[in-house]
Amino acid sequence: VLSTYWDSAYELDLGPDGFLAYVNVKDNSIIAGEGFLPVNAQALMEPSPKGKIRVTYPIEGSEIYIVGEVSKSWALRNWQNLLFFGGPVAILSGSLLIVFLCQLLYSTQRLGYNLNQGLRRNEFRVYYQPIVDLQTGHCVGSEALLRWQHRRQGLLSPGIFVPIAEKTGLINKISEWLTAKVLEEQSQILEAYSNLYVSINLSPVQLNSGASDKLTRQLIERDDNLAKKVMFEITESTWIQDKETPALEAIARLRSLGMRIALDDFGTGHTGISYLHKLNFDYLKIDRIYTASSDAHSNIRIILDGIINLGRQLQVELIAEGVETEAQRQALLAKNVRYGQGYLFAYPMPIEEFEHFLRQNLS
Ligand code: C2E
Ligand code: CA
Ligand code: CA
Repeated sequence: VLSTYWDSAYELDLGPDGFLAYVNVKDNSIIAGEGFLPVNAQALMEPSPKGKIRVTYPIEGSEIYIVGEVSKSWALRNWQNLLFFGGPVAILSGSLLIVFLCQLLYSTQRLGYNLNQGLRRNEFRVYYQPIVDLQTGHCVGSEALLRWQHRRQGLLSPGIFVPIAEKTGLINKISEWLTAKVLEEQSQILEAYSNLYVSINLSPVQLNSGASDKLTRQLIERDDNLAKKVMFEITESTWIQDKETPALEAIARLRSLGMRIALDDFGTGHTGISYLHKLNFDYLKIDRIYTASSDAHSNIRIILDGIINLGRQLQVELIAEGVETEAQRQALLAKNVRYGQGYLFAYPMPIEEFEHFLRQNLS
């Protein structure tokens, strides 16, 4: 609109925020958005002449450059036109947004309902991803990862349904199911190989609600010895920082019962480093974004070195997640990271394939 009033029309551009200009309602001057500066702008601070709207450009909030003027009546006509078309567009897009939000709510509730059905229909599966000694490649344990064999949509990954299970509280039931299933499927191999462990992901929801206590009790009542071979993975996140959070007490109780704890996705959350020593845990899992940087020269690698040093200071074992290349394995070994997990060694797999993997990769 305004460009028709300038000779240097081609120099006008929308700012990165997508707006052409902002209007100061006090004096009707238009304070332009960024990316909107004709070359011959003059440094003037005069008020708008009568009947005109002055277009200005602020530089670092102090000086204001006047970059052009339009007549008030013209601007008003054009704003009205804009409103004439803009009004219905705004109403339409508002309605569409409401419909979209309702659908989102509906689909979340529906998925929650379907999750319950999936549980009753026994549609969940457990896949196991080996955790290996980076030096020898020998399998030392596995991580149990949830899958949903959906009737119509096929095998769904937990990223899709775990957040909804957490919101609806169904994660407690699903986790109880998973834990029982893991024990059922792995009891023989865990008994046969004394050093082998299996790790189970716990959601912060379970820790905060006390559901993790019930889960552990069930585990211990079922088989005390097997329970000791279970490690719980807990994602490092904001709630860990809060000293009052019930989750911290829940973690302490799990440890007092002899359960092993791994701090998961380390480096992606917000755990205060000074607070880490109060958190008792046995393993620290380095998130795969840091593993990916291990063989590169990037700033992220500096953070990886920091995490490794931290693990050493805290005297916990390190497991690098998402090891995909031989170069990464070598780089991690050079930094004395002992354990790893990733596509380089094996993808998550059903129990039968995991047993096969185990037979070929035991010390
Ligand atoms: P996570 O705990 O960080 O699990 C590791 C994820 O990384 C898995 O994704 C695994 O398949 C993937 N992964 C393993 N190796 C590699 C690799 O080399 N490269 C890449 N790019 N990815 C790799 P998955 O199975 O889709 O699980 C996603 C997340 O869902 C898990 O992340 C975990 O937070 C959550 N989850 C899985 N099972 C459960 C569960 O039983 N309970 C809860 N609360 N969360 C679960
Ligand atoms: Ca995990
Ligand atoms: Ca992880």
